[in-house]
Amino acid sequence: MKKELPYWDEMEQGFVTRTLTEMINKTGTWRTFKPVIDHSRCTKCRWCIIYCPEPCIHMEASNSDEKVIIDYDFCKGCGICAEECPVKVIDMVEE
Ligand code: SF4
Ligand code: SF4
Repeated sequence: MKKELPYWDEMEQGFVTRTLTEMINKTGTWRTFKPVIDHSRCTKCRWCIIYCPEPCIHMEASNSDEKVIIDYDFCKGCGICAEECPVKVIDMVEE
């Protein structure tokens, strides 16, 4: 039988957080509302990263700073990040 996906011990660290469904489908196509972060007010507390059920939010280095990035290929638009952000800097915007 042809092996299309890697076994768990062949995956890179962090890779196992993606579910099988997500590896096959870009679940972002399910979204009707899109979370948009106001980076000027984001405190980089990482709370949204912890709460995102996908998980499709990560920190990305940007020059000497870092920024919270949402991977829209996989974000389903559930709105949990916007609800849990302690400073309310994530808006859910209709696609
Ligand atoms: S929870 Fe809100 S303030 Fe914290 S990192 Fe995410 S967007 Fe920024
Ligand atoms: S809307 Fe849901 S899936 Fe998308 S980034 Fe926020 S918590 Fe994650």
